[in-house]
Amino acid sequence: MSNVRRVGSPIYTFFPIEVEGFDALGELALDMRWSWNHAADEVWAQLDQDLWDLTHNPWVVLQTVSRDRLKQVLKDPIFRRKVDDLVETKRHEAEVPTWFQQQYPQNTMTAVAYFSMEFMLSEALPIYSGGLGNVAGDQLKAANDLGVPVVGVGLLYQQGYFRQVIDMYGAQQALFPYNDPGQLPVMPVREQNGEWLRLEVVLPGYSLWVRAWQVQVGRVMLYLLDSNDAANFPAYRGITSELYGGGPEQRLRQEIVLGIGGWRLLEALGIKPEVCHMNEGHAAFAVLERTRIFIEETGQPFEVALAVTRAGNLFTTHTPVADGFDRFNPQLIEHYLGDYARNSLGIPSRDLLALGRLNPNAPTEDFNMAYLAVRGSGAINGVSRLHAKVSRGIFQQLFPDWPEIEVPVGHVTNGVHMPSWDSAEADALWTESCGKERWLGITETLEGKIHCAPDDKLWQLRAAARKSLVGYVRARLSKQLAASGATTEEIKKAHYIFDANALTLGFARRFTTYKRPNLLLHDPERLLRILTILERPVQLIIAGKAHPDDHAGQAMIQEWMRFIRRPEVGTHVVFLSDYDMLLTERLVQGVDVWINTPRRPWEACGTSGMKVLVNGGLNLSELDGWWAEAYTPEVGWALGDGNEHNSDPAWDAAEADALYTLLEREVIPEFYSRDRNGIPLAWVARIRESMSRLTTHFSSNRAVRQYTERYYVPATASFRERAADKGAAGAQMVNWLHNLAREWGNLRFGEITIATNGEQHLFEVQVYLNGLYPDEVRVELYAEGVKGGDPERYEMKCGPKLIGAENGYIYGAQVQAIRASTDYTVRVIPSHTGSAVPLEAAQIHWQR
Ligand SMILES: *Cc1c(COP(=O)(O)O)cnc(C)c1O
Repeated sequence: MSNVRRVGSPIYTFFPIEVEGFDALGELALDMRWSWNHAADEVWAQLDQDLWDLTHNPWVVLQTVSRDRLKQVLKDPIFRRKVDDLVETKRHEAEVPTWFQQQYPQNTMTAVAYFSMEFMLSEALPIYSGGLGNVAGDQLKAANDLGVPVVGVGLLYQQGYFRQVIDMYGAQQALFPYNDPGQLPVMPVREQNGEWLRLEVVLPGYSLWVRAWQVQVGRVMLYLLDSNDAANFPAYRGITSELYGGGPEQRLRQEIVLGIGGWRLLEALGIKPEVCHMNEGHAAFAVLERTRIFIEETGQPFEVALAVTRAGNLFTTHTPVADGFDRFNPQLIEHYLGDYARNSLGIPSRDLLALGRLNPNAPTEDFNMAYLAVRGSGAINGVSRLHAKVSRGIFQQLFPDWPEIEVPVGHVTNGVHMPSWDSAEADALWTESCGKERWLGITETLEGKIHCAPDDKLWQLRAAARKSLVGYVRARLSKQLAASGATTEEIKKAHYIFDANALTLGFARRFTTYKRPNLLLHDPERLLRILTILERPVQLIIAGKAHPDDHAGQAMIQEWMRFIRRPEVGTHVVFLSDYDMLLTERLVQGVDVWINTPRRPWEACGTSGMKVLVNGGLNLSELDGWWAEAYTPEVGWALGDGNEHNSDPAWDAAEADALYTLLEREVIPEFYSRDRNGIPLAWVARIRESMSRLTTHFSSNRAVRQYTERYYVPATASFRERAADKGAAGAQMVNWLHNLAREWGNLRFGEITIATNGEQHLFEVQVYLNGLYPDEVRVELYAEGVKGGDPERYEMKCGPKLIGAENGYIYGAQVQAIRASTDYTVRVIPSHTGSAVPLEAAQIHWQR
């Protein structure tokens, strides 16, 4: 694979250990493939069982064991053979033809550069906060499985995201343990001569040196940048110290490192991606650096270089509220990027600022990273069907006079990497039903196969998973209590809480207002009754962090802690602190029902509920994000009426009531109604429908295939077309754009005639194009969709010239006379081969 390159010397020589066989172990330990493929687990356990149990980090185990221990185990021929086999399998897997090669045998796409502020690959590399990182990490893993040539670009944070402790008062304390790079499964990126690759990014007055690291994710490489270089001005060393920490200036510097530094790194490595995929607007400065490099290569002006390169850029937006985008004060932009604009891009800084503004000429308007991303991309997508609709509303202002439904935001609903989230037992069941290779190609045949799994197997899977989770909760809670100063008595009690046969509910997510993590607590007495019915006990696990600046979020954690400490609650509810990937894994594998209560439409997509699917867990969730797409009565339970109610307290109360009622009348009775063998048949039927109908669809396998088909492959072709001959097509396009800007205002309609001839409406319209030519525009008949459906659009054909007029023509079209002729309007929109309208040219002229 062209995008996987080892730079410089072999990776393991960073820690020279001349024990025979160490190289093989190093190769295994530094490939994050172990985060979903557990074939090598026993190797690490054999090296150091305790440390393995505690960390699940092969690299830490390998770094920590003594040389004597290494020599000793490697001398064992069985162990040695096992290691060699694992290495061979891993290398073989990297060679076998993949979905991408089979699907696109002629495709020569070099690389898709995937930029993200966070990546959630494993707890061993804590550089994520939540959902955004989850999407990024799981997509890299799926790109590996499918052989899509992706390279990741991100930042290596010295402290990552904060760690959570709940103190004896039930309050959250935030800790920032240091990420020791020597203990992370990362390697310095080295030059051919062995020198550590360092990049210079010019900031005002100083150069910033950024170091580069690489993380192997199977065939995919993830590059991480960090600023903690000894050569840096002290204030700059900490730029990459914390994820989502510091103020706006710190964020801006991080985004400069990510976008500009990140693209420059790829260039330094000789990687020339056709596609740049920006996971959220944080990385939008990559648009500028990509343009700069094209300018340098071709001598084209900024405008042409941007028109060429944007065809290869994809912007994925994740937020459902306009306030969610990063915005910077124009003075900050001027300070940090003014010289860059003038000297490197060849434009005045006001032109740069205009790219991030709604109104290019408003001198005080902030610089919005999402606007830069929109103006620098050839396509935009949201992360669920509903979120795309919401995003079209958010970006509507950039496309004035266009119907909202035509605002150019498509969607690819997120998915999760199932092999990373399934339990060993679920893996076994799926392997038996669907085979080992099930996530490596198309998955459309799996549905029928898993549907055949028998009742007893499904129920045994659930029982084993719940039992294992209960064991985990006991162990984790007792440790957690010890750390927060509990008595020996309390710690001892934690070893006996929960019941492996009781209905187990899970609620874990970031504690932030829109997710309503306290909705279940709306009526504490009713919740208490639900949990404590003697014959039908229910147990509930809560987890989640609130951002250190989010006081409302922290108050909700305390509210739960107060509830949990009421003696009547007994051991029916636990709050597990420090929600992270390892905890998620255990929860999604073991819970019977995963609850999600966001305020629609603020969830955008949500991914945690998808992680229970493969494990036979069921969802009870608000009809928001992915669940609005996934829900049918056979697969789980829904909250809400499918409408938005903002933060109306009366609606919150109504939804809390609906949630309790669902639990009381449907969830609990169904779980506890058993046949003579003890199997809850209706429940198991629901599991079967959920597993078979939803798992494959909400996998990152499906998401990455859609990204490839809808975006990566077309964007590659489009970028290449525009880039050919030093950007000749891009230059032509810019001429067209200039002509549109100059002449659009002179466009007007003359007479319009409508005749209905039996089955057909015939429309004729006189159009005075004035300074424009027929091949620069498209004249259309337009009718709004019926009942919120897609609009109707028909191209009108350019007919005879109007006598005596300069560039005036008669355009005509006929449509089936199904709807009234008055439903249709005529409009003119820009048109140019290969251009995205309205994304790249947002003019529109309506017949009024
Ligand atoms: C999956 C996951 C998330 C995202 O969950 P949502 O419910 O989509 O917010 C956040 N944090 C962790 C640790 C996760 O594993």
